[in-house]
Amino acid sequence: MTLMEQASPQTQVTTRNPHDGSPVASYPVATPGDVDAIVARARAGARWWNGQGFDGRKAHLLRWKSRIAQQADELATLIASETGKPHGDAVLEVMLTLGHLDWAAKNAKRVLKRRKVKAGLINYNQHATVGYEPYGVVGVIGPWNYPLYTPMGSISYALAAGNAVVFKPSELAPGPAAWLAERWAEAVGHDVLVAATGDRATGAALVAADVDKIAFTGSTATAKKVMAAAAERLTPIVAECGGKDALLVAADADLDAAASFIVFGGMGNAGQTCVGVERVYAVSSIHDALVTKVVERASRLRTTGDDAQYGPMTLPTQVDVVRRHVDSASESGTLVLGGPASIDGRVISPVVAVDVPESAEAMQEETFGPLVVINPVASLDEAVDRANASRYGLGAAVFTKDRRAGERAAARLQAGAVTINSVLGFAGVAALPFGGVKDSGFGRIHGADGLREFSTVKSIARQTRKAALNLLTMDRSEKDIHTAAKMIPMLHGRSK
Ligand code: NAD
Repeated sequence: MTLMEQASPQTQVTTRNPHDGSPVASYPVATPGDVDAIVARARAGARWWNGQGFDGRKAHLLRWKSRIAQQADELATLIASETGKPHGDAVLEVMLTLGHLDWAAKNAKRVLKRRKVKAGLINYNQHATVGYEPYGVVGVIGPWNYPLYTPMGSISYALAAGNAVVFKPSELAPGPAAWLAERWAEAVGHDVLVAATGDRATGAALVAADVDKIAFTGSTATAKKVMAAAAERLTPIVAECGGKDALLVAADADLDAAASFIVFGGMGNAGQTCVGVERVYAVSSIHDALVTKVVERASRLRTTGDDAQYGPMTLPTQVDVVRRHVDSASESGTLVLGGPASIDGRVISPVVAVDVPESAEAMQEETFGPLVVINPVASLDEAVDRANASRYGLGAAVFTKDRRAGERAAARLQAGAVTINSVLGFAGVAALPFGGVKDSGFGRIHGADGLREFSTVKSIARQTRKAALNLLTMDRSEKDIHTAAKMIPMLHGRSK
């Protein structure tokens, strides 16, 4: 019996193409009872999966990857139809995702296999090792903006670390979840990756279920609810939340490159990117020239027709947030491209504003739409200070030809990932961990840290011979303690 048959048939979530509202597909809404049953199946799957060992899992994961790759176009079409993004963007999403899956599969053994650590002089009689073991069942809750890439950043690493995964996708774009689970069933079998489609209540049921870890990606507000609910069972979570990413431009920067990346980072995917560019701080001497270049490029973007470069807003209610922020920018600053009239139903043409006070809603809250604010600053240092004066800290970017200045700014930026002279440069580098600080969340997906995020650590100290000092026994003598007392200043008395 498949998951789709098991869930309550009368309650369905129907996805609609954001371009015209036409129905794409219907998926069952898993009830709390369904979720519990799915997690129980995944628990059995986890035992089988753990038994496969690193090499076995790698082979299975690469077979699954190959299945996905062979039908990549079908998957991209599904993503595009549910999110409204251009097919080319969806193809890129599949490609980035498979790069991570490949890395996780091929590096899990190297990163997680038991390794020896130095026991130290006093503990010469201990053989000390550290090993990483799977949690068991990981519940993955995903968003709609990158419905494949984002949750797969957790799923690939959780699976490679030896866990089974129950994947609860966003109700706006559950297609990839069901599709991935089907490919898994064909390529591997066993209930190791199962989808639990549904709505918010399904997500809440997954958090309350007998899972060993939750990997949540979505808004900060929902992360707080998830964390509070997970606390009931002391279930650990990794939280990948929203952002208000800043891009800093120094006086010596390549302004054409910076402008191109601002337009891509700010307007791509209609601005619905957690690490999208929402705030730009440009040094005053080049501010106006940069604004001219950004406006020139952004005004050329096509938002309708077959060759549209981004689609309509996926979440209808997000349009209201963008409208509020455009109003906020226009009331407190100056609009240099577009304005309230740029919002035509769910299609929003690029909006660029300048001189918007830092206290404005458009500068404080995540817009998640194609609005970019470019404010002048006196120096790169001030740009960093303004970038950091945000409750979010997901990604950031610096543009400068001065390598040291770029690295100094990167070091000072409060963010989980920084790119220098590009945007989103980290997204495809599988070895680089990804995650935020402050309200953007905690924990890491991707890279070695991403594999460890989905592992519990077990330390083993094996005594290989009797200790010279008999300290860890009730039979220790006064002489042993006396010797230990004399050793303390010898071992730790020096400050260097
Ligand atoms: P959302 O918070 O509305 O929903 C995310 C997921 O949580 C959905 O699957 C939803 O069904 C589920 N959910 C809702 N209420 C729940 C509850 N009480 N318990 C458990 N699950 C619940 O977010 P969204 O609108 O789908 O996604 C957009 C947000 O995601 C933006 O803020 C964006 O910045 C963020 N995001 C972050 C990253 C990242 O890696 N940091 C990546 C992509 C998106």
